Amino acid sequence: MIEIKGLRKTYRAKGRRDREVVAVDGVDLTVGEGDVYGVLGRSGAGKSTLLRCVNMLERPDAGTVSVGGVELTALNRRGLRQARHGIGMIHQHFALLSSRTVAGNVAFALEVTGVPRAERRTRVAELLDLVGLSERADAYPSQLSGGQKQRVGIARALAARPKVLLSDEATSALDPETTESILRLLLDLNRRLGLTILLITHEMTVVKRICQSAAVMRDGVFVESGAVTDLLHRP
Ligand code: ADP
Ligand code: ADP
Repeated sequence: MIEIKGLRKTYRAKGRRDREVVAVDGVDLTVGEGDVYGVLGRSGAGKSTLLRCVNMLERPDAGTVSVGGVELTALNRRGLRQARHGIGMIHQHFALLSSRTVAGNVAFALEVTGVPRAERRTRVAELLDLVGLSERADAYPSQLSGGQKQRVGIARALAARPKVLLSDEATSALDPETTESILRLLLDLNRRLGLTILLITHEMTVVKRICQSAAVMRDGVFVESGAVTDLLHRP
């Protein structure tokens, strides 16, 4: 479902235009349909850059990225906008619109993907039901707990019925109990919708809890990868 080959991304070092930071330095990755794949690593390892290359929020310097058989790195802007509808993303700090209700936040994502007004109400209700938040449809983000905010983030990410969900440290701002409930929800969505999930995290417990396969990233490269059960048993 996700196929990455020879991915490389560099940035100009801040304040030092003569120097380059190599954030991702030649990564190959295959994530099968319906898999939950984790990329584990410390801050600065290049995880976030890698993830942002999968939906082309960052354009790689070299290498190819394909999602669902479509090579994103070969598309023009218009093609890319279309292809991005098939890729949802959730964030550590939720990124909700504070001036809109829970339903309004989800409806906004539907507007953006071109769902007609008449259908929106039904779809909003379906999506909120999917994440267990129907009762809070009319609440504002400031009235929600962290876990509830992430549920809105997940509902919004699923608005365009994507096949792939990217998770950028989705549970890092949450306490252990809330983390567990969000991870359970992600697994549930993986099973019920056949959703393929690629997540990045600095927490081994997250990988252990929901990933079948994982890679350990350091200084822009994968230093280990494979089935989580194998990775855990290595010295
Ligand atoms: P992680 O998500 O694992 O913390 P990042 O992908 O955010 O890692 O960062 C990898 C490296 O790239 C770090 O050295 C970081 O400072 C650098 N980097 C990330 N984004 C930028 C940017 N926009 N400009 C310059 N350097 C960046
Ligand atoms: P906001 O004021 O935050 O923009 P609105 O009340 O205008 O939110 O609602 C935005 C959209 O969300 C509406 O067009 C409707 O489709 C949907 N919506 C609003 N409330 C509900 C609800 N309780 N259940 C389902 N959908 C809703």
